[in-house]
Amino acid sequence: MNRREFLEAVTAAAVLPSLVRQDAHEWGVQVCDLHFHLRPQPAASLAHLDGAGVTKANLLTRGRALDQVKALQAAAPGRFTWFNSYDVTQPDAEQVLTQAVKSGAQGFGEMKFHVAADGPELRRMYALAADLRVPILIHFQEVDHVPNEGTWVTGFAKTFESVLKAYPRTTFIGHADAFWANVSADYHNEAVYPAGPVKRGGVTDRWLADYPNLFGDMSAVSGNNAIARDPAFTPDFLQRHQDKLLFGSDCSCSDGHGAGYNNPAAPRMAGKCVARETLSVLKRSASAAIFQKIVWGNVHELLRM
Ligand SMILES: [Zn+2]
Ligand SMILES: [Zn+2]
Repeated sequence: MNRREFLEAVTAAAVLPSLVRQDAHEWGVQVCDLHFHLRPQPAASLAHLDGAGVTKANLLTRGRALDQVKALQAAAPGRFTWFNSYDVTQPDAEQVLTQAVKSGAQGFGEMKFHVAADGPELRRMYALAADLRVPILIHFQEVDHVPNEGTWVTGFAKTFESVLKAYPRTTFIGHADAFWANVSADYHNEAVYPAGPVKRGGVTDRWLADYPNLFGDMSAVSGNNAIARDPAFTPDFLQRHQDKLLFGSDCSCSDGHGAGYNNPAAPRMAGKCVARETLSVLKRSASAAIFQKIVWGNVHELLRM
């Protein structure tokens, strides 16, 4: 940590207690955000947690991020765990990720690369995650948000069941557009965020029930959409998978209240905080006990915190 980062860390730590007291029980219980991308400055990360009423977050990082993670953990002790990711097409991916786990990373993720879900690059990561006994968080996306974006970890609906079967010792956490659009049985990669009633029996719903090693990360507009699009579907879905769902935000707003948030594929979310929107849907759709599991209890069990 350099001098500037150190001073920012100290400043962030000094302002923390008042913010925590103010927001700790906004949601009635403590909240852990599974899907929070590390921001360059500690104060910026803390501003989102405190603004959204979030107690703890799991940092998602890529490559060598240990110094930044340590700076933030020092600024706000007890509030941050972390997962690390690394380009899975590189020959040293296993080595880098193994080292990250030895340095304190509690999972792999997010894994977001232009490879196939059942391809050799990720297969070796599935095996490594099992060996190291850490979960692997995967971004599945088949439809571009912007022209020529390309697809990410492809083949979810067609091939991922074979992966779940082949790696029973691996803990998978599914995330993003294809994972959540497939709660509905009538999805065929035609929309980024499909709207309207959910057709029961989608593969995501079935696999969450059938495979003990599959969990769902409810972050981002995709996770929000899955539980916001059909109010008749949501309460039962949350009840069925109450031990398998994990709250996350993947929100890029600056203040935990929606400032600066703009996802061109989801105009309905412009200027809103994804964390707040999803916590609101969860709170009104689940019992207090199930809400507590999804926003706090399940992630603590999964990461053995
Ligand atoms: Zn993602
Ligand atoms: Zn936000």
